[in-house]
Amino acid sequence: MKFNPRARLSTSQVRRHASARRGGTSGLGGGLGGGFGRPGGMRGGGMGGLAVPGGIGGLLVVGAIFLALQFAGGGGGGAGAFDHSQVADTDLSRCQTGADAAEFQDCRIVATVNSVQAYWEEALPEQADVDYSLSTTNLFTGSVDTGCGSATSQVGPFYCPSDDSVYLDTTFFDEMLEDELGAQGGDFAESYVIAHEYGHHIQDLLGTMGRVRSEQGAISDAVRLELQADCFAGMWDKFATTIEDENGEVYILELTEADISEAIDAAESVGDDRIQEQAQGRSDPETWTHGSAADRKQWFLTGMDVGTLASCDTFSASEL
Ligand SMILES: [Zn+2]
Repeated sequence: MKFNPRARLSTSQVRRHASARRGGTSGLGGGLGGGFGRPGGMRGGGMGGLAVPGGIGGLLVVGAIFLALQFAGGGGGGAGAFDHSQVADTDLSRCQTGADAAEFQDCRIVATVNSVQAYWEEALPEQADVDYSLSTTNLFTGSVDTGCGSATSQVGPFYCPSDDSVYLDTTFFDEMLEDELGAQGGDFAESYVIAHEYGHHIQDLLGTMGRVRSEQGAISDAVRLELQADCFAGMWDKFATTIEDENGEVYILELTEADISEAIDAAESVGDDRIQEQAQGRSDPETWTHGSAADRKQWFLTGMDVGTLASCDTFSASEL
């Protein structure tokens, strides 16, 4: 993944929150339940909370990157989520150009967010006759208060429809994606996760979230929603090296086969079957919310191969 050093970054699309210490470990379920778990509590409606084994608060965030289960190996415990108590540097002003993106993780996130949103600013009106509106990515460590309630790192990256924002704990990539889920990681794995979350923002703008009636199971609406977000991430990938900043400079000069492999590997790593087998030794398709590793890979590749909203119609697909 090679960033264009001449590309200008816009830090206004990303906000970093100072690390907040919370008094207890019960904020997650209670808070997010208010946003997601009650009928009508969320724009689009109809997205009930799901009971999640392992006690991460009893609710699963719709719009997350993966099925959050508590991992036996630690890292998933409530207490662990509060270990990152260092005060984050909230200033992103060092992220000025693509050269900064090549050097610093936070600037890489800024550049990716800029590129993903520049893509949808064109693609969404063109293909769906819907105007795109910017969505802020909020970086945090430990916990954060959102329009969907308070959340900790355990939830993983997620999109909150109530405040149209993406939330991302930057420790997710090392601690969860690589260490817990066994993904190879890498810069473009991170980009896949970000593009997936923006896929949920697109669904929010298109009203797709309101189509979810069945919330778990291998061919449930919830899984279709997640696989579509993977497909949308693939759409951005397809055009990633052509997307330009305001001055006509592309953000990303080059993507290699190895970069694409990182994204595919990340998509597979957050497959429900992988996560369940790893966390509890067996997989139960009836409780899937995000789709299998194979399905996630396939829909990501469909988006990348065809590159249209129409090709990502997981809701009409007879087979996933
Ligand atoms: Zn998701």
